[in-house]
Amino acid sequence: MGQTYRKQEQEPASEDVIEVAPDILRMQLPISMPGLGHVNCYALIDGDGVALVDPGLPGDASWNALLDRLKKAEIPVERVHTAIVTHSHPDHYGGSTQLHEEVGAEILTHESFESFSGQANDDLGAAALDMTDEEIVEHWKERMTSEPTPWGTRLEPPPDEALIRYIRDGARGGQRFLTPQPTIRVGDNAPLTYARREWFTVHTPGHTVDHLCLWDPEGGVLLSGDHVLPTITPHISGSTELGDPLAAFFASLDRVAALDGVTTVLPAHGHPLDEAAQRCDHIKVHHEERLDVLREAADGLGDAPVDEWMKILFRERSWGGMAASETFAHLEHLRVLGEAATRRDADGLLHYEISVSES
Ligand SMILES: [Zn+2]
Repeated sequence: MGQTYRKQEQEPASEDVIEVAPDILRMQLPISMPGLGHVNCYALIDGDGVALVDPGLPGDASWNALLDRLKKAEIPVERVHTAIVTHSHPDHYGGSTQLHEEVGAEILTHESFESFSGQANDDLGAAALDMTDEEIVEHWKERMTSEPTPWGTRLEPPPDEALIRYIRDGARGGQRFLTPQPTIRVGDNAPLTYARREWFTVHTPGHTVDHLCLWDPEGGVLLSGDHVLPTITPHISGSTELGDPLAAFFASLDRVAALDGVTTVLPAHGHPLDEAAQRCDHIKVHHEERLDVLREAADGLGDAPVDEWMKILFRERSWGGMAASETFAHLEHLRVLGEAATRRDADGLLHYEISVSES
C-alpha cells in the first residue's frame, strides 16, 4: 500500500513526531521542491525551552504543520526560544521570522548568512504594496537577469506563475516572508547549549557559503543540515564568492568526516544516519566521478562554453540555471587544479578547454 519513494528525501512529510536522540525530536514539515518532499525540523529540548532547527518554509501550510507537530509533542509554541537556521534557503529559514514575531524567538545563523530573495524584496520595500502582480514579476525578472552569470549567460527567470506565487507573497505577505534578520550570528566552532548538551558549530561552506552544522562531541550527534544528506547530494552553486566552491565543499566534507565518535547524523531531509565519514566519502566520490565525466568529454568537446559542458553532465530535463551553475563549479575546480584553460568569446561566454590526459 501507499507510494514508495526512491529517495528518502522525496517522502512526503510524516505527521509523526519521533525522538531521534535524547531530548531531540524530529518533526517533518511539508515542502514541495524538486526532489524534496519534506524538511526535518528538529526540536532541541531542555529546561530553558525549545530550539527549533530549520523551521520550514514561510507561510500558513508549514506554520500549521509546525503547530500540529508541536501539539503532538505537547510543546506550547511559546516555549520556543530559538530558531536555528542551518543555511540561507527558504525551506530552512522560512518559519523563523514568524517564530520571532509571534513568540520572540531568537534567530541563529552563521555570520555570513544572506539570501538573494531577501535582497530583492528589500529593495522593493514598501513600494511593493502598491505594485500589481505583473509589476512585481517584471521587477524580479529584471533583477534576476540584469547581471550575466560569471560564465556569461543570462539566467532564465522561473515561470511567471512561480514568481507570482513566491515573490508576491514575499513582497506583500508581510515581513515573515522575507529572509530573516538573524538576531544571533555565530562563527565556526562556537559553543552552544541546547537539549542538555554542548554543541559546537561547524561552518561547512559548499552547498551555500553560510552552511552550518552543529556537533555534539559528547553524545556523538551531528545536525548536518543539507551538507550531508542520506541518499542525494546537495547542489553546489558555482556563483558564490567562494573561489572554488567544489574545493570548499570537499574541505567541509573532510572536516565532518574527521569528527570523532559520530553515532547519529540528523540531516535536514531524509532519515538519521549512524555515521558520517562513509557518507562524506560517497559524496566526494560522486563529485570525483562528475569531474571524470568532464575529463572524458574533453577530447570530443574541445573548447566549449559552460552550457555545452552542462549537457555532458546533466540529463536534458535538468538543463537550466542550476545545472549550469553546478557545472561551472566543477569546471572551475578543474581550472584551479591546472587541468582546464578558459577564454571569453566575443559574446562574453566563458569557454573551458580541459586538457586531455596522456594516459
Ligand atoms: Zn534543504
